Amino acid sequence: MEKKSSVYGNVCRQFDKAADILQLNPDIRKILSKTNNEIIVNFPVKMDNGSIQMFTVYRVQHNNALGPFKGGLRYHQAVDIDEVRALATWMTWKSAIVNIPFGGAKGGIQFDPCKCSKGEIERVTRRFTFALGSNIGPEYDIPAPDVNTNAQIMAWMLDTYLSTMPAHERQACSHVVTGKPVEAGGSLGREKATGQGVVFTIQEWAKDEKFDLKGATYTVQGFGNVGYWASHLLKPLGAIMVAVEDVTGAIANEKGIDPDDLGEYVKKSGGVKGFGQAHAIDHKQLLGTKADILIPAALENQITAETAPLIKVKLVAEGANGPTDPDGDAILQKNGIAMLPDILCNAGGVVVSYFEWLQNKRSEFWELEEVDQKLLRKLVNAYGRVRDTAKQYKTDWRTAAYIVALQRLETVYKDRGIFP
Ligand code: NAD
Repeated sequence: MEKKSSVYGNVCRQFDKAADILQLNPDIRKILSKTNNEIIVNFPVKMDNGSIQMFTVYRVQHNNALGPFKGGLRYHQAVDIDEVRALATWMTWKSAIVNIPFGGAKGGIQFDPCKCSKGEIERVTRRFTFALGSNIGPEYDIPAPDVNTNAQIMAWMLDTYLSTMPAHERQACSHVVTGKPVEAGGSLGREKATGQGVVFTIQEWAKDEKFDLKGATYTVQGFGNVGYWASHLLKPLGAIMVAVEDVTGAIANEKGIDPDDLGEYVKKSGGVKGFGQAHAIDHKQLLGTKADILIPAALENQITAETAPLIKVKLVAEGANGPTDPDGDAILQKNGIAMLPDILCNAGGVVVSYFEWLQNKRSEFWELEEVDQKLLRKLVNAYGRVRDTAKQYKTDWRTAAYIVALQRLETVYKDRGIFP
């Protein structure tokens, strides 16, 4: 794969390492090295003050050999084609690792939704859903929430998509997006699914390592959907959050920060800064906080050659996509820090998205216990396969996770052949 100093460059380096170890078929390597489709659409939106602003949406569809393209949608000022390409490619590996019939895609719009009103965000969402048109579809490419997008945004996308369909097809299309509000066809357990998956994989690791989570300490970077739910679900296991950071700042308290109290505070204040149960620290202090587990749950490229030496935990459990770059990875490995890589650790979201998609297609509604049980089974299987592959190939867990994904994709391509 082509090398670049970029997020997609990180994917290329990770891919090349695994493909070399696996001795991936050279033709299949060529196919997986490229994204299938890259869609860039510019569209105008009328802002509250009456002016027109142009927006650019990216949708990258990396691969659909295993099933329809699937992946989230991000609203963030740093979104660009390189980032979306990387996120789409990680989605292909993720779906393959957890053995669900989806390919990989990702979308993003480069803007800061915090600077827009609710009405403006709704108009951006509806206009870009219309602009994507048949580039998305319930059996073709299925978006879901990611950074700064949520169930409300999925509901607007659904409504816009259905409004443009012929009347007789509308009822059969509610699975065009996942992560919808439960009342609008969403699944129980989807909102917490990624954080739940992070916790299930941490629990598997703890079992293997005979490590007691009761009294264990952890730090979190990013206290949004993934960071909040992971912390909320670690609390009943007796684990103690000692430091946390979001875009407003970082805070710490070695005696513990209650994630539910903090969640309530963030709902009102908009961020963790100023929370009464803790004192302010800076970003480097957050990464350097002594704890058992670090959960990065914000953005890419946080653990790098510069910051990895600060980290003093036993385990990094990647809730975010791509928080560790290859140089950071090498340092963590050298320092004996265990790693639950993103494409395994945060796969709970896409697994429950798959469950939501299935429920919509079958007109079913599953109880939360059923969703959680099925999610657990998927992740325990995937975890076991990654762990065993790491042993078999004497390699690190990220490379092992790639090998699991690449083996599955290689088999499918060998079975199907290449048209014509
Ligand atoms: P979110 O928008 O709900 O939360 C993001 C959090 O990160 C916020 O607390 C924000 O303040 C914080 N943040 C942003 N920039 C930061 C910075 N520079 N420093 C510190 N904190 C910062 O997003 P999310 O859905 O929780 O996604 C977080 C990560 O998890 C992303 O990498 C996303 O791709 C990944 N992920 C999300 C899902 C999902 O289902 N939502 C699934 C898989 C992976």
